[in-house]
Amino acid sequence: MTSILVVEDEADLRDMLSESLEQAGYDTRTAGTVSEARRKIENSTPDLVLLDWMLPDASGLQWLRQIRRMSKFTNLPVIMLTARGEIDDRVSGLDSGADDYLVKPFSLKELHARIRSQLRKHNDVMQQERVELGGIILEIDTHRVMAGAHEIRLAPTEFRLLKHFMTHSDRVYSRGQLLDAVWGHQIFIEERTVDVHIRRLRKALESVGKADLIQTVRGAGYRMSTRSG
Ligand code: CA
Repeated sequence: MTSILVVEDEADLRDMLSESLEQAGYDTRTAGTVSEARRKIENSTPDLVLLDWMLPDASGLQWLRQIRRMSKFTNLPVIMLTARGEIDDRVSGLDSGADDYLVKPFSLKELHARIRSQLRKHNDVMQQERVELGGIILEIDTHRVMAGAHEIRLAPTEFRLLKHFMTHSDRVYSRGQLLDAVWGHQIFIEERTVDVHIRRLRKALESVGKADLIQTVRGAGYRMSTRSG
């Protein structure tokens, strides 16, 4: 059974969400604070988290940043719930590792559609042997990268970087997050090393006219997307 953790401090909204998700057949758990959410997520990892932005004990975003650094939660789908007027919430939410966001008030129909879409995307990524994005095909087992009939030759670091971007498309990653995800926590490397490898990756993609897929997000980091910057 697919499980969803709802982290929301407004009791009425929390109850409504939880009831609607139960009715749709999800195993639903709830938390009203970040500390409660932390306990629940560590007991058992849900398949998806709905995360409110403003919570009484901490911000949902800060917590999201923390859990994204733990490898078991790196790929956990998270949809942020934000109130209107929280400045730049879309950008900061996606910067912090949210997969999608909904602005309150939202319709339940919209919520369910977004949940289905994230779960589908997640399952695809987990089961895939090859990932396709914007005309680039990356074969996970053979480490081959193709654009049409052309093979793109990449050094191991650029391959891992591209794989990370392709399996987490549209999400913005800071240099620090990329270091954690691609190089691993144990290695001490300066953040500007990331820029060097991004440049090499872009250059390799440029040979097939696809350099635009790797986008710089000013003040935030990098993302890979088929949408324009
Ligand atoms: Ca709230």
